[in-house]
Amino acid sequence: MAGEDIRGAAGDSRNRLNPNAPKRAIPSLKATFIKSSSRTEECPPPKRPEFAFIGRSNVGKSSLINKLVGHRDLAKVSQRPGKTQLINHFSIQDGHWYLVDLPGYGYAKVSKVLREVFSRMISHYLRNRENLVCTFILVDVRHDPQALDLAFMTQLAEWQLPFAIVFTKADKLTKAAQVRAVENYQRRLLETWEECPPNFLTSAATGKGKEALLDYLEGLIPVFVAPQSTEQNP
Ligand code: GDP
Repeated sequence: MAGEDIRGAAGDSRNRLNPNAPKRAIPSLKATFIKSSSRTEECPPPKRPEFAFIGRSNVGKSSLINKLVGHRDLAKVSQRPGKTQLINHFSIQDGHWYLVDLPGYGYAKVSKVLREVFSRMISHYLRNRENLVCTFILVDVRHDPQALDLAFMTQLAEWQLPFAIVFTKADKLTKAAQVRAVENYQRRLLETWEECPPNFLTSAATGKGKEALLDYLEGLIPVFVAPQSTEQNP
């Protein structure tokens, strides 16, 4: 299974073989909602490589998830009342990997106590989910580095959990401003870190960055080893 083209038989291998071939739209991924969980223990068995998406509310997480898998309404499931603060699992390509939509953090409309509960839930999930391969932290490319995002990244680094930064809403800036914003963000990180995590510049509006992000994610799948306590089969 490892390394298989998760985009199916109609994948874009032709373009890879022949760079002059006309660009084709990336086919949709088969994606199905599995469940929403309030605790790590309730999540599906950890037998598939898992990728989590998180960011401040309104960062464009639902739009990006929908764009990535090519379904207009997929992440709506997680936005239904009561589900926005849960760990939402989606099965991609019949369980080839799991996509996890985590609650947005820094959500101003909930009380401090509730924020604490959510952040404990997220922390527990991140630290204990054995099959979590990488967490994608979404940040709006238009904003200067925010303390909350930086603190979250620092925490993941301290826990030695792999993560990548996904800049969203690139289409809202000119190309030059996009470059400036990403450079600015990296410069800020390098003030305290030795190196920057992988980062991707994306737009749910134009599809920019989708292929690079999926290529990166796919490239991580072969390194996944299912925890011994779980079965190998879906
Ligand atoms: P979430 O709260 O993080 O899930 O954010 P949403 O996906 O619901 O997006 C929040 C708002 O930003 C919505 O009005 C989206 O239409 C808009 N939005 C999200 N992604 C993009 C993008 O790539 N480009 C533009 N122009 N708007 C976006």
